[in-house]
Amino acid sequence: MNEKIKIDNILKTNGFLDFKWINPKEIVVSQWVRVKCEFGCSDYGLGTCPPNTPSVQECRDFFNEYENGIIIRLTKSADKNNYPTGWSKEITNKLLDIERLIFLKGYQKAFLFNQTCCSLCNDCTGNRIDCKDKRRSRPSPESFAVDVYQTVRNNGMEINVVSENPSEMNRIAILLTN
Ligand code: SF4
Repeated sequence: MNEKIKIDNILKTNGFLDFKWINPKEIVVSQWVRVKCEFGCSDYGLGTCPPNTPSVQECRDFFNEYENGIIIRLTKSADKNNYPTGWSKEITNKLLDIERLIFLKGYQKAFLFNQTCCSLCNDCTGNRIDCKDKRRSRPSPESFAVDVYQTVRNNGMEINVVSENPSEMNRIAILLTN
């Protein structure tokens, strides 16, 4: 069985059925995403969000160092005024465990971009140095300036702005393998 199929099976076994292999060099990295982190996002300044992340150019350089990755699309009915934090934490922990499994299969570069900004702690310290869980905290794609909408659409998957609340939402994780 080839290595991609083995990783597919790890994802499926953990309940992740909606995913696609991608070329990380084609991930769209844009300055406007960074600006929208800085202005308009209530998560700005959390421990894995800007300004605690590399520059936009450094993010671009980082993705160019990879050959293979996986977009994982999660779909969940949610009310933004009553966000399903329990569900989100469960997904985060599963994704982190999968990243570890892939690393142990010999993929030393395995790295997860989580489907949400890090929310492992209830009171984030807001910087990398004092982070309470340095081993498991991971950035979101957006915090690395990824234009998630365009990247997902370019890879033939659907994603739309959620205009009604409550509604069905998509959360996107990216798992880089090698
Ligand atoms: S692990 Fe805790 S302190 Fe560290 S970035 Fe995540 S929420 Fe913040």
